Amino acid sequence: MIDIWAYVEMAAGKVLRPSQEALSEAVRQGRQLRGRTTALVLGHGIPKEVLEAVGRYGPDRILLLDDELLSEYGTEPYAACIETLLQEHKPDAFLLGSSVVSRDLAPRLSARLKSSLVTEATFLNPQGGRWMVTRSAYRPHASMIVAPVDTGLQIITLAPKVMDAEEAGPADGLSIQALEGPQNLKGSHVRMEEEIREIPSQLDITDAEVIVAGGKGMQNEEGFALLDELAEVVGGTVGATRMAVDMKWRSRESMVGVTGKMVSPEVYIACGISGAIQHVMGMRSSQTILAVNTDPNAPIFRIATLGIVGDVREVLPVMIGSFREMKAKAGAQGVKA
Ligand SMILES: Cc1cc2nc3c(=O)[nH]c(=O)nc-3n(C[C@H](O)[C@H](O)[C@H](O)COP(=O)(O)OP(=O)(O)OC[C@H]3O[C@@H](n4cnc5c(N)ncnc54)[C@H](O)[C@@H]3O)c2cc1C
Repeated sequence: MIDIWAYVEMAAGKVLRPSQEALSEAVRQGRQLRGRTTALVLGHGIPKEVLEAVGRYGPDRILLLDDELLSEYGTEPYAACIETLLQEHKPDAFLLGSSVVSRDLAPRLSARLKSSLVTEATFLNPQGGRWMVTRSAYRPHASMIVAPVDTGLQIITLAPKVMDAEEAGPADGLSIQALEGPQNLKGSHVRMEEEIREIPSQLDITDAEVIVAGGKGMQNEEGFALLDELAEVVGGTVGATRMAVDMKWRSRESMVGVTGKMVSPEVYIACGISGAIQHVMGMRSSQTILAVNTDPNAPIFRIATLGIVGDVREVLPVMIGSFREMKAKAGAQGVKA
């Protein structure tokens, strides 16, 4: 039976988006091929909620390796553990989402196990127990299809935000198996000195988890200052429509849409944006869309998860105030808002 593994990265008790994509694709392939899907989770003191969250994506089993030496990511112990597990269990494919960790792990594992590696996959086409993998070519607007030349494990990393992350629901008979690390597992030769967090408002919109976007309805540059304030308080990055960019209220780098950037954040807050198709095509895969518009018939409401019919100049100050209050309360209770 085909066995497809997905590597799970987590932070603050949550499965990270790249791993959601890898898990979902593994489950889609597994179900299509009537094979087995395995989620591989490494760490120390892994919270129950993470395992529940992993289960919701629908793998048939979760392999769990909990060891003090894995309490934070280190290339050497993580690569050693995964190499051993892949050698022992011999899955057909090992999928990883697009992340700094997968860029570190995948080539190392491929070299150690002498297995094929395809990076930045945009489509997986199963053929006779192997996968033909589509990825971008080494020039813009072109793709290539890569086929493995030998049998055995295929390691595949996914292109960011191409594959859907969807909770397929827990599989019948989901099993969770606790594993032991290799006998002689050693810690890392390096240790993390300090974690320096990026300032969300300075992130490129394609990397942002929260985008606060404005259109012509923001009226002017001062209107966009409200969006900067909202972005700061919700930890987001400001995006814009082509209209707003043409008005010079925002730079071209922040433009979302077919001629701008394709984005897929967890939350997209559309303010004073009508929802023209050229804009919507660039953001409709956002997980949650909140729209604020004075026109109840604005097309943006057709794709919004939540809509507020109102003037941005009235609604946004209230939202900013409420988020500030929530943050202050959470801070006072020692909770990260
Ligand atoms: C070839 C081509 C490519 C394009 N590519 C892109 C692209 O990549 N990205 C892109 O964004 N556009 C693109 N466009 C332009 C696109 O067609 C739309 O014109 C544009 O997206 C509209 O921007 P908007 O929503 O800001 O403005 P509008 O369509 O003018 O909408 C403004 C909205 O604000 C609302 N509003 C007004 N005042 C307020 C208020 N005080 N409070 C709340 N709401 C208010 C109005 O009801 C309205 O719905 C392209 C067009 C073409 C022809």
